[in-house]
Amino acid sequence: EGYRAFTPDSLRPWLASLPALAARLGGSPQQWQISEVGDGNLNLVFLVDGTDGGVCVKQSLPYVRVVGESWPMPLERAWFEYQHAVVAGPHLAGLIPAPLHYDATLFASVVALLRPHRVLRGELLAGQRYPQAASAVAEFVARSAVHTSPLAQPLEAVAGQVAGFAANLALTRVTAELVFADPFEALPRNRWTSPQLDDTVAALRANAPLRAAVAELGHRFLTRREALLHGDLHTGSVMVSADDTRVIDAEFALYGPVGFDTGVFVANLLMAYFAQPGYSDSDAAHSGYADWLLEQVAVFWQHFARRYDALWAAHASGDAWPQRLFADADGQAAFAAGRARRLADIYQDTLGFAGAEIVRRITGFAHNADFERIADPALRARCEQAALALASELLLQPQAFGHIGAVLARAQAQA
Ligand code: ADP
Ligand code: MG
Ligand code: MG
Ligand code: MG
Repeated sequence: EGYRAFTPDSLRPWLASLPALAARLGGSPQQWQISEVGDGNLNLVFLVDGTDGGVCVKQSLPYVRVVGESWPMPLERAWFEYQHAVVAGPHLAGLIPAPLHYDATLFASVVALLRPHRVLRGELLAGQRYPQAASAVAEFVARSAVHTSPLAQPLEAVAGQVAGFAANLALTRVTAELVFADPFEALPRNRWTSPQLDDTVAALRANAPLRAAVAELGHRFLTRREALLHGDLHTGSVMVSADDTRVIDAEFALYGPVGFDTGVFVANLLMAYFAQPGYSDSDAAHSGYADWLLEQVAVFWQHFARRYDALWAAHASGDAWPQRLFADADGQAAFAAGRARRLADIYQDTLGFAGAEIVRRITGFAHNADFERIADPALRARCEQAALALASELLLQPQAFGHIGAVLARAQAQA
């Protein structure tokens, strides 16, 4: 009722009718430069440059953009993305674009335009180094994980948010199916580098312990409501400039296990690494770029672990782990040990979810440009095969990876 998909021509007068946005853009509406850049799977995204400032308008379509009207998708996802910025935003200053406006009829959210930022995945494909990106994304996850959880909030506040995001059903179902089920079924929407990986895919599907490991993670994803997650934290959901990193595209937001966000990000760094033999004639290949990519996995995890521990210790005012019970010296030691156990738990989840994410990106519906851009299918298949080998180990023998260094060593051995 009243919904219409924007075009650059219809967006202009709409923006002009909203005084705060028009003032932010500056000048007259005719001077605003509008381009539609949606490069993702789902939505319309317009970048608007005014004479004074810029905005980014993201609007839901009633179907999956990459597929078309044959795959309908409810419009509400724009609201959940905006709501993520409202709920977690106060704790994420400088790590997400500022939310500016939401329209419930048009299912459109407006956030600050990021300039001169570029999408991290594309930058990694181009062999660029962003030394602060991995720790900034880790900071994003650590702050979200502590501040939106009952470690830092009264249970009533958390319960309200859990209930609100539990309604993000359409995209939660996308994850439940695409990540935790589809790769193990014969479905027309699945694809892989064929015929090179046919046997590998058949072996994955025939492996009941592997199916069970992924199913167990899927159960955890749907039942462990530890904190507000981003829900789609791949390298295409991160925008970077030389000195600034922002996380975008939180439309999959839900309460879930923290290790899902860390695992997806780790998986996407690992896939960038495993894709490197596909780019061996680039300049980056000669300057240790693959090693740098792999190092970012450790930078990410170590920053996350350090900050999660410190933020929890500093903001433990929620109903979980009530601090009045741990004020004495023994209590403090027990609290520190509890934090360490919790991090060990998130670490194990991270390994498993990383494995599941790698499997689904190589054998399921939505693939990564990292591998897709390797034109020679035989070369691409070798890169993907190596990534799948590590993924299987992460899923089947997570206890073999006692610390993040073991993951890096194993990745190097497989590549
Ligand atoms: P989708 O959900 O369809 O994947 P995204 O939120 O990822 O949409 O946005 C798609 C693209 O739009 C991004 O890859 C990026 O290039 C651009 N973009 C998104 N948000 C901003 C922003 N705030 N500033 C500048 N560009 C943006
Ligand atoms: Mg996106
Ligand atoms: Mg998206
Ligand atoms: Mg592929």
